[in-house]
Amino acid sequence: MDSIPCVHCGTFFIPRNKKQNYCIEQPCQRARKAAWQRYKMKTDVDYRTQQKLSNEKWVEKNPGYWTRYRQRNPEKAERNRILQHARNRRNRRGDQDPETPVIAKMDARKSYDFDLLGEFYLVPVIAKMDVSKVSIYMISKGYR
Ligand SMILES: [Zn+2]
Repeated sequence: MDSIPCVHCGTFFIPRNKKQNYCIEQPCQRARKAAWQRYKMKTDVDYRTQQKLSNEKWVEKNPGYWTRYRQRNPEKAERNRILQHARNRRNRRGDQDPETPVIAKMDARKSYDFDLLGEFYLVPVIAKMDVSKVSIYMISKGYR
């Protein structure tokens, strides 16, 4: 079989079979396992439930571990705080009924007294955010 580049480190190696994409180096095998686990967590409900129970058991047996971890790694704690804030916002949006406006001012679109000036799509630069449609209305004609 021809040698192929490892998807993790890029080093060329001879695969044992057509499915092998990672070389045998430990960091690459760890990356392969982590990728498999991410995929499994996303797609397999039973696996996700088992992992959650297993994690809860581990945390019970190791009280205070995460408190000490955050004290040892304040920069990681801060990074997680920021990312969790973004996840919370995304999840709040996901749980909502699509007809429910995310911000109060969006109620304005339900009033038909206003003149529609145009409709626009907000396309986020950051990945994982949805495109949202926005209607722009004139709410006061005699403001000049
Ligand atoms: Zn590799």
